Amino acid sequence: MHKRSGKRPGSGRRSSEPWHQNVVNFLGLCCRHFGFGLSAEILGKSHKALLGVQNGMIKVKSTVLKPKMLRMYVSTGLLLVGALWAAQLLRAQAAQARGAQNPAPKPASGGIELLPVQGNISMLAGAGGNITVQVGNDGILLVDTGLSAMTERVQEALQRLSKRQITYIINTDDEADHSGGNANFSKMGRPLAINRASGARVIIIAHSAILDRMSAPTGQTAPTPEEGWPTDTYSVPQKNLFFDGEAIQILHQPSTTDGNSIVFFRHSDVVSTGDIFNPSLYPVIDLKRGGSIQGVLEGLNRLKQMVIPADHQEGGTMIVPGHGRISDAADLAWYQQMVTIVRDRLQDMIQRGMTLEQVKAAKPTQDFDPIYGSTTGSWTTDMFVEAAYKSLSSKQQSVK
Ligand SMILES: [Zn+2]
Repeated sequence: MHKRSGKRPGSGRRSSEPWHQNVVNFLGLCCRHFGFGLSAEILGKSHKALLGVQNGMIKVKSTVLKPKMLRMYVSTGLLLVGALWAAQLLRAQAAQARGAQNPAPKPASGGIELLPVQGNISMLAGAGGNITVQVGNDGILLVDTGLSAMTERVQEALQRLSKRQITYIINTDDEADHSGGNANFSKMGRPLAINRASGARVIIIAHSAILDRMSAPTGQTAPTPEEGWPTDTYSVPQKNLFFDGEAIQILHQPSTTDGNSIVFFRHSDVVSTGDIFNPSLYPVIDLKRGGSIQGVLEGLNRLKQMVIPADHQEGGTMIVPGHGRISDAADLAWYQQMVTIVRDRLQDMIQRGMTLEQVKAAKPTQDFDPIYGSTTGSWTTDMFVEAAYKSLSSKQQSVK
């Protein structure tokens, strides 16, 4: 789940060329680098000579080889052996260097992985949705709390990161895999220095739509225990916070539900997106909670404006997605393009009067399915196409 362990579509660098071609390529590179005047033609011939090495027998027809050519082949062969050895050595050294640069993630605690992101921010993976963790002198701030059943393991992992207490929780939506741990954490209490009253609950910040959904009118049973409800809601486009020495912007962005928030840590330069962005799955659009594909796309477009890449689209602003690996601007751009293309295809099919069954049969996501699709699990490609189609066609009906 580490940033560098995730593979971007198409980034696989495994060569499909035969190994001896790789050696020849490598040798050509070395020769060019060190100024050996070996031409590509000679390298090509040495390649062919090498192809003659089979079952330990060197099948070189000496009759066609002049002594001068033979000498050249022998010296090229020696060079090849040297190059192979050097490549092996370089590979071992590179692996060693990688190990030193990226120390292995802290040991997992019951499937939980704690990964440093950037600045004050780490990511906890494996507890349902990803949990973004900000740590500093003021205490701990969490974006989302994972599944209720995972709280104990999340708490264990947090203690390895900081001995301070959780002060703030920000919910990106009210799905169980993002806010399920709210009640457990809120019972633990927050530090006295911040709140000046003993036994106070953790402050849970969320858009007001989340409180509306978690609670119920007096006399009715609420769908969520009261301890898990947001204690500090906002209903304006943006709420600001300053904690652990950095400015934090909480932005309302209706997308997979109508209550999504994006959380931007301005000093660390990390944005926590919630379910708007998931680099390995189609967006989980919850129609009943007010989600839509158009909303997801607007959220992704907004994120694209916020996220600033460093050189060559790598690095810069880092992204903690709702699920999946730590990402950057390039990962986001891939996803945003996919959602745009699928939205356009569906829109076109709806305008041509195609029914949901016809749209599903036309496979509008086929080319993206190897990366984001699924035929099993809680969010299949069919479910995504259906939710996206319904959200687009209901919008069209309301426009008419
Ligand atoms: Zn989720």
